[in-house]
Amino acid sequence: MMVVKIDKLDENTKNETIVVKILSLTEKETKSEKGEGVYHYGLIGDETGTMPYTAWALPATIRQGDVVELRNFSVKKYNDSLRLYLDTRTDVILRPEDKMDVKRVYKEYKIKNLTLKDQYVTVSGKITDVIEKKYEKDGQQKDVSYCSLEDDTGSIRLSLFEVKIKPDKFYKLEGLRVSEFKGRLRLSGGDRTKILEIKAFEIPERKIFSIFEVTGPVDSITLTGFVVYLGEKGGLVRRCSECRKSTDDIKCPDHPDAEMFLDLYAYFTLEDGTGDIPCTAGRTPLMDILNIKDEDLNLTKPKYSKNDIITKIEEALMPGPLVFTGDASSGSNGISFRVRKIQKISEPELRLYSQLPGDEIL
Ligand SMILES: [Zn+2]
Repeated sequence: MMVVKIDKLDENTKNETIVVKILSLTEKETKSEKGEGVYHYGLIGDETGTMPYTAWALPATIRQGDVVELRNFSVKKYNDSLRLYLDTRTDVILRPEDKMDVKRVYKEYKIKNLTLKDQYVTVSGKITDVIEKKYEKDGQQKDVSYCSLEDDTGSIRLSLFEVKIKPDKFYKLEGLRVSEFKGRLRLSGGDRTKILEIKAFEIPERKIFSIFEVTGPVDSITLTGFVVYLGEKGGLVRRCSECRKSTDDIKCPDHPDAEMFLDLYAYFTLEDGTGDIPCTAGRTPLMDILNIKDEDLNLTKPKYSKNDIITKIEEALMPGPLVFTGDASSGSNGISFRVRKIQKISEPELRLYSQLPGDEIL
């Protein structure tokens, strides 16, 4: 039997047989007019490399770690990378006796370019905000470190299992896994992740993006531009301390016994000449830019009326240009930007920004 290897696959591959190891296997439900269904996706590998796959049909006995022989599969290019497809015509034959050493190749990424399309990656950057915790698995105490990984394009949450890492050092981490949680990407690694301490490189204080570059979730980036639309339901809102929902009523309809508090909230569209993006800003960035203190938001004796706040927000945000630092996340309506800090642009910065490609309007 002639078997083809992963590094020889391309879009023209037809009528071949391949033997691969199922490195990961995730089940996903689909809903369409035709009804509900289930498909699987993940990563397969052999001695020559790895490749993502989608299985529209897969025998229920197949598990992660199994070595399988595949016949009648297809290979297509999807988002610039090759992907193997299994469907109802594909034969999947379990080979329980086979052992396979998979050659892992991890493409190197800048944080801003990470996507779920390539789930095993190499990223280099600075480790900060390390929190070490213990957890129990199969009756054993295990260590996990939660931290931030930062490079010159962005930052991302990173969880490392059974791996020790030092804060404020720079590392190259090979074989991290990309996943998504609540619209934001995160990385995780374990004892199979290769970790190398590297020389420090420069990380700019602000990672300035043009809006057209924000095509996926990325944390801690800076956008500059003009607010072109300000949502009218923002401003001073009453919020329930239990569920944090805002309401115009005196009490929360769901939690009538819960305390209410005054909060600030704004949503707007930011435009920079390269694109626009919907943004939200909460209490902290707004208090800062509006020069409002906690005691000014006393529920019984508020210093400002709803209208005062709307005027203040308009005066602060509309003239622009401004500098917005925050996190881009993806949701059902596409990419949005959660603002954590709003700053005015200084004259020298205006000149500096005007030299950046894509920032010609500034
Ligand atoms: Zn409530």
